[in-house]
Amino acid sequence: MKQIHAIEREQFEKLFRQEAIDCLEDRLVVLDAFLLNEDHITPEDLEAYLKMQGYSFSSEFIVETLELMCRFGFAQKNHFQNGVQHYEHKHLGQHHDHMVCTKCGNVVEFESHQLEELQRRIARDYNFYMLQHRMEIYGICARCQTERAQKMPLVLAKPGEKLVIKDLIGGNASRVRLMSMGLRVGDKVEILNNFGKGQVVVVADDQRYVLGRGLAQKIIVEVANGEK
Ligand SMILES: [Zn+2]
Ligand SMILES: [Zn+2]
Ligand SMILES: [Zn+2]
Repeated sequence: MKQIHAIEREQFEKLFRQEAIDCLEDRLVVLDAFLLNEDHITPEDLEAYLKMQGYSFSSEFIVETLELMCRFGFAQKNHFQNGVQHYEHKHLGQHHDHMVCTKCGNVVEFESHQLEELQRRIARDYNFYMLQHRMEIYGICARCQTERAQKMPLVLAKPGEKLVIKDLIGGNASRVRLMSMGLRVGDKVEILNNFGKGQVVVVADDQRYVLGRGLAQKIIVEVANGEK
């Protein structure tokens, strides 16, 4: 175990004894497993990992222990917009930011001194005293970019993607419907909203278009040139 983790474990044990937290031995097992996983981890991942090690704690116990770690400042919970809750180590004096892939949920960590300094400067310019911040970039990770099909139904596109309408399936009826809305093959669109259910909202020529999922399924799009 890395030096920093050994120190964390010591502090954790001391604080938990001091606060008279129950099941200390079991919680330390969960803590050790958590500290061994350097990545962002979901309670389910941690449970699976502990199972592999031969422990069978309930998911409630694992979540409760993770929450205690958060409460005492050893872990941090991230609510990214993909709806999955990740926990990660919170090491004193260390900070990083995140990029979240909207296709596969992969979380990439990054550090930028320039960005940190810029944020401080912006806050200062607004006479705002910054205490903390969160920087999250949403997009498509390197792996998903290479795996991404050239053509796909519009319904699978993610907010922010810039696309060209290439084709329509479903015969004349869908063509007529699309044209009556003012869209046609060859138009460039940007996805404004697509929540995975309900309508898809796109922008073309500074206009919003609201498309039902059925129609969005029939519109075949391609990533616009110049966008990767
Ligand atoms: Zn930052
Ligand atoms: Zn991805
Ligand atoms: Zn992180």
